[in-house]
Amino acid sequence: MKKHNFYAGPSILSEYTINHTAEAVKDFAGTGLSLLEVSHRSKEFVAVMDEAQALVKELLDVPEGYSVLFLGGGASLQFAMGPMNLLRNKAGYLDTGTWAANAIKEARLFGDVDVLASSKDANYTFYPRLHADYECPDGLDYLHITTNNTIYGTELREDPTVTCPLIADMSSDIFSRPVDVAKYDLIYAGAQKNLAPAGVTLVIVKDSALGQVERAIPTMLDYRTHIKKGSMFNTPPVLPVYSALMTLRYYKEQGGVKALEKLDLDKAAMLYDAIDSSRLFIGTARSDSRSIMNVTFVMKPEYAELEKEFVDFCSARGIVGIKGHRSVGGFRASLYNALPVESVKVLIEAMTDFQKAH
Ligand SMILES: *Cc1c(COP(=O)(O)O)cnc(C)c1O
Repeated sequence: MKKHNFYAGPSILSEYTINHTAEAVKDFAGTGLSLLEVSHRSKEFVAVMDEAQALVKELLDVPEGYSVLFLGGGASLQFAMGPMNLLRNKAGYLDTGTWAANAIKEARLFGDVDVLASSKDANYTFYPRLHADYECPDGLDYLHITTNNTIYGTELREDPTVTCPLIADMSSDIFSRPVDVAKYDLIYAGAQKNLAPAGVTLVIVKDSALGQVERAIPTMLDYRTHIKKGSMFNTPPVLPVYSALMTLRYYKEQGGVKALEKLDLDKAAMLYDAIDSSRLFIGTARSDSRSIMNVTFVMKPEYAELEKEFVDFCSARGIVGIKGHRSVGGFRASLYNALPVESVKVLIEAMTDFQKAH
């Protein structure tokens, strides 16, 4: 049976990415060797890394003066690596979900943290917005935001204008909209949501923001090490980087991030409409904060005992990965770029049929 993959991460990748990666595992770039067994210094792999970096720059319109890196350690390492490289005294953070809270915890190891806004008391059901043209409090080295809160299904679909440098964790919504990179000193994204298999993290860093902290930084945790060596200081995660390149080529073929955004907006609108017009289901995120990548919803209280049954009902139709994170409960449908609109239709049909049966 065809599966409809709504997992939050690792999550669905395009057939293009999966097929080309599978081919390269058997025969990489006509070398007669597997991608898994060639030197990362081979000219074939160097070309992969170069093209992947160039395509990120092209797709996100990255201005001069920024470096694109592919690093290990996941987005979670960036929670520490960012402040280690950029936090001198004090940073501002928005507390918008579990990942944001984890980022705050790590930053506190390196300096003072001002939590400028939080939606924690509302179980993170909305994105606390700073007013337009936000004036950062004096002495902030940067403001850190999490653009999409994967667990709670809330998102900030804009690049805020603030008076201090910005850092963003874009792990779960990168490549779902154009980004004004010039507003950021640092953007990072674990690849396993919208780019590649787990194991690589995309980092976009403003070169001139580096070298201003006094602390000693271990070589591997210093962005400058990886900039100097083109993400090849040590052995990079070759397979995820290769898959990332395939996804980036696919995104370009699809018409770039503007075209992807349109598809993503359409998919999300369809599903939110179905939720809002349903007798059984109700969305958990406040309507002004809804994510187009992770749609969180629950059964209305009077039907709460049907949740397990609905998950089973879905899996009988090949729908997988819709069980919500334990901190929200209910359901979460992740609608990443690679998810076909057809899968959204199948989910909506399941919701409709389940409602008819109850
Ligand atoms: C998944 C996720 C992370 C964690 O990523 P790892 O690569 O597992 O460390 C961090 N932030 C956000 C927004 C995420 O969705």
